[in-house]
Amino acid sequence: MSVKNFPLTRDQLEKIAENHPTPFYVYDERSIRENAKRLIRAFSVFPSYKEHFAVKALPNPFILKILAEEGLGADCSSYTELLLAEMAGMKREATMFTSNETPAREYETAKKMGAIINLDDFTHIEFLEGSVGLPELVSCRYNPGPLKGGNAIIGNPEEAKYGFTREQIIEGFSLLKKKGVKRFALHTMVASNELNIDYHIETARLLFELAAEIKNKTGVRLEFVNLGGGVGIPYKPEQEAIDWDTLAQEIKKVYDEIIKPAGLDPLGIHTEYGRPITGPYGWLVTRAIHTKNIYRKYIGLDSCMADLMRPALYGAYHHITIPGKENLPFTETYDVVGSLCENNDKFAVRRRLPKIDVGEANGDFVVIHDAGAHGRAMGFNYNGKLRCGELLLRPDGSLLQIRRSETVEDYFATLDFKAFEKF
Ligand SMILES: *Cc1c(COP(=O)(O)O)cnc(C)c1O
Repeated sequence: MSVKNFPLTRDQLEKIAENHPTPFYVYDERSIRENAKRLIRAFSVFPSYKEHFAVKALPNPFILKILAEEGLGADCSSYTELLLAEMAGMKREATMFTSNETPAREYETAKKMGAIINLDDFTHIEFLEGSVGLPELVSCRYNPGPLKGGNAIIGNPEEAKYGFTREQIIEGFSLLKKKGVKRFALHTMVASNELNIDYHIETARLLFELAAEIKNKTGVRLEFVNLGGGVGIPYKPEQEAIDWDTLAQEIKKVYDEIIKPAGLDPLGIHTEYGRPITGPYGWLVTRAIHTKNIYRKYIGLDSCMADLMRPALYGAYHHITIPGKENLPFTETYDVVGSLCENNDKFAVRRRLPKIDVGEANGDFVVIHDAGAHGRAMGFNYNGKLRCGELLLRPDGSLLQIRRSETVEDYFATLDFKAFEKF
């Protein structure tokens, strides 16, 4: 079981909405900090540990700065994400650059920043060398292919476009060594939103065994392995979160079993969790503005999948609560929907909820939980929809706007109206 809390009351929301009309995201700084501290403490069982927060999950420099203060770095996959990490003060090797189909310009930025470059393919060794030169430290991304079972969001490793094969990774490290690279790291990312702890322990085992094989076959001694992201969160109340202490201790057992006898101790452990770092500590706050009763009962929100795409994209479950009505019986069955002209724009389908009152000025607030990762970040402007803003709930209870909502001017900003006038 996981508890679905929301840190604000209906009265507080009414006050906030006077200045910040719904919809908006709100993130809880205190919980994000406490979670980051728990993570770092748990993984301190390893000789060295670094978490590179997957920037794509919540690309806001305010959040990144909070995480940097807690000792986290960044996992970036594009030029813009590198800029965000730099803005947040995530210096040099605190940032890991894991991209694919990468243009030379992005490698150049990563190299200039001193970020750790993680290569996605064997051919990128020469691409990197030829374009910007090989850095002192190079990491390679491993795709275990048939050696690892699949997972719903990311799919089967064998069908995934990422990484080197096992043969290529051995050859790759030999080649890098021959080319004068001095420091080496190994990376994989094989799952997404996986709540089965064994899956993550087995991923560590796979990488540790490969690290030993690399040492035997090439003489390359890895400095660290990056276990990737993919630790899930309990979107459904009946699901259980993965406990950081248990995860770290179980991986440590495998470390002691494989890494020590292989003569690879001390080996650094890196991760690049996104979802479990901020996911449970962000909410999309909307208001119920319409209801309709046709073949099903609907509640229409002032938001839509342009603000939160996961339910439409993956049929993902996001818990919903109605502030002020937490203790009322669930007497209704609603489809809770957004305003996009797409019928999959549904935050919830046939969800049991208390009776919801509607109205643009005084309707019930509808809070969508676990939206702190891959939420606002996946937003888009289809249908001329303007993405909502983001608020940060500070530890002292105050609220800080960390991103305003988009305006029509933002939407039109990429159009050339001078040219249009003459057209
Ligand atoms: C998306 C991604 C992550 C983070 O995944 P989460 O599920 O948010 O933890 C980490 N590494 C890479 C390479 C990714 O693509």
